[in-house]
Amino acid sequence: MPDNAYRFARFQLRRTRGPLIFRAQCEVCEELGPQAATGDAAMMWVVLHRWDHPDHELFRELSSTPYRVAPR
Ligand SMILES: [Zn+2]
Repeated sequence: MPDNAYRFARFQLRRTRGPLIFRAQCEVCEELGPQAATGDAAMMWVVLHRWDHPDHELFRELSSTPYRVAPR
């Protein structure tokens, strides 16, 4: 397990073994695509979004990491 942790006064947050979750986000209107297991799958949403908004040209791939509260 990676050593990723955030330490606070009363507890810490430690990286869990759970998978990353990926999403695409339009940087023009901030709309989010659905959660996906891979970046490739998440970014397919850009195709659909551009059908409705062909002038939106800036996107972001978001990946989220699961954490669990643990005592210090
Ligand atoms: Zn947009």
